[in-house]
Amino acid sequence: MSDAQPTHVVPLEAGAGPDNPPCPACGEPLFGWLSARPGLRGPVSRCESCGLGVVGESADPEEALHELDRLGGADGPRISNRASFACSLGSAGWAGLEPGSRYLFTVESVRRLVARRDQVVKAHRWEPAAGLVATWQTMLNSVTLGHNVALAAFGRAEAVPAQEGWQRRIDALASVVLAIPALLVALPIELAGGLFGRGAVYSLRLELL
Ligand SMILES: [Zn+2]
Repeated sequence: MSDAQPTHVVPLEAGAGPDNPPCPACGEPLFGWLSARPGLRGPVSRCESCGLGVVGESADPEEALHELDRLGGADGPRISNRASFACSLGSAGWAGLEPGSRYLFTVESVRRLVARRDQVVKAHRWEPAAGLVATWQTMLNSVTLGHNVALAAFGRAEAVPAQEGWQRRIDALASVVLAIPALLVALPIELAGGLFGRGAVYSLRLELL
């Protein structure tokens, strides 16, 4: 009888190390996702188990919970969903990546995170209008040099404008000219997202266990 261990089964925890700190929500290792770029406080990593994104080097459950609570309405937080179709397609152009962003939530990551303080996600509701707007901006981000330029013009987001004046003028023009085409692309993406639980924005209701 051999006591050799099978080598093809590598638990996710085995990836944990200085380069892959544990996810503050579920404890699995974080892996690199996006490199640092203007407007962000550092490179972005993500958890492949619960989907949480972390901007910057370190991650801490208490800080993540605090950040989550700042997204709160009367009943619970409203999150930009890092597990949305919009995020998958937009990647670095995803509108949920805003200046000052620190933790990028998913419904599952919130579920895991709030369990640490004996809470459960009692309900989560797709926000179609807000989701469509976010997906629309994500599509526009794929063609502009700046980030979230259109939403910032309406005071709905904080932009990372392009560096040069002429670039900013092109971005403004592109946002107007491509507004309708971007909407026509965003609409089926966000509808499919809502249908498959991968919408861009969700309201969550939290309750104590
Ligand atoms: Zn996780």
